[in-house]
Amino acid sequence: MSSHQATGDIESDDSPPVDSTESALQTARRQLRHAAERLEIDPNVVRRLRHPAKVHEVTLPIERDDGTVEVFTGYRAQHDSVRGPYKGGLRYHPEVNRDECVGLSMWMTWKCAVMDLPFGGAKGGVAVNPKELSANEKERLTRRFTQEMRDVIGPMQDIPAPDMGTDPQTMAWLMDAYSMQEGETIPGVVTGKPPVIGGSQGRQEAPGRSVAVITQAVCEYYDRVLEDTTVAIQGYGSVGANAARLLDDRGANIVAISDVNGAMYDPTGIDTHSVPSHDEEPEAVTKYAEETISNEKLLTLDVDVLIPAALGNVITETNANAVRADIVVEGANGPTTSTADSILNERNIPVIPDILANAGGVTVSYFEWLQDINRQSWARKRVNEELEGEMKTAWIAVRDEFESRSVSWRDAAYIVALSRIAEAHNVRGLWP
Ligand code: GLU
Repeated sequence: MSSHQATGDIESDDSPPVDSTESALQTARRQLRHAAERLEIDPNVVRRLRHPAKVHEVTLPIERDDGTVEVFTGYRAQHDSVRGPYKGGLRYHPEVNRDECVGLSMWMTWKCAVMDLPFGGAKGGVAVNPKELSANEKERLTRRFTQEMRDVIGPMQDIPAPDMGTDPQTMAWLMDAYSMQEGETIPGVVTGKPPVIGGSQGRQEAPGRSVAVITQAVCEYYDRVLEDTTVAIQGYGSVGANAARLLDDRGANIVAISDVNGAMYDPTGIDTHSVPSHDEEPEAVTKYAEETISNEKLLTLDVDVLIPAALGNVITETNANAVRADIVVEGANGPTTSTADSILNERNIPVIPDILANAGGVTVSYFEWLQDINRQSWARKRVNEELEGEMKTAWIAVRDEFESRSVSWRDAAYIVALSRIAEAHNVRGLWP
């Protein structure tokens, strides 16, 4: 290990801590520093990992259906590729910006490394409210984004996937635009596509499936029987709804679920299959509820497990002391600010981090990429079994660090990831 002292850039832009408005980049850097302090990691590597390798920003003029032209801004942050091609989602959301993409791309680097996938980390997005676009406008935006990013994405370079505001159809347009320009069908340029064009079975349910597998593992770890476990889940999209249904099937008692309009609450247990997910009927949870509560109330319910599976920055300095769950499992990316994380840690509430819990998405993305480049199609049973196996392997690696170092679950996951990334950087070296 080098004896270098941390220089300015290790400490700088970690401030000011404004908590609920903390950017994903600030949170990601604080988490990196926190974990690096607990691991004998070469500070020269940490210094590199605080910055993205590249951030691409593009202007996206598209024709609206009324004939006017509107201009949007798109980003692709490519953080680190020491372990393989850049990998990560593409987000359509009004709050997308450069820093958010960079922070999220850092989380992708750690996520792929925790899972031991041969990928680095990236994240892209367009600052747009997708609810205000027609399907045709969304298609034109996606094709334009693909065209502008054509030189920097590719199956061996950078592979996008669905994220907030995008879905398999978006990925199909991306694949088509890229393939038409390249002159051949290249399914491996993107994952999360519909299976009919090379998407993987089980990809859509995968992030929720991994949340369920990890929730079950953590309950067992703390000697809780799933049948006696109450669970509140914020968000009923592809992560929240799939996690809810799988946990419900495995015997857990799901007492609250929510969407943007509010939460359904039933202390006797919700029949999760009878409530449509966001994909099946958008924003309909409260329509099916007898008793509704607010999203804020859901976060402070007295339950065994709380799963924030919607937005980032929902557990903050303001409500972390009011959280009454015994365990938090992060289904969304970055739902806990760094201040809230410290509060929960001091209160001895285990927080199972996003980079482990929701990593099923990118893991099945890896399976999809393998199927695409080998021109194969795996059965759903195989996908689910292999995913469960990969999640258990990652869980054991993180659990071992948690036990041997007496750190938080987040630090334990970071230690697993950073050790692998730092070792890869060290053997590859710094060049040019
Ligand atoms: N957007 C997902 C995530 O945040 C999946 C990324 C991928 O499959 O590449 O993990």
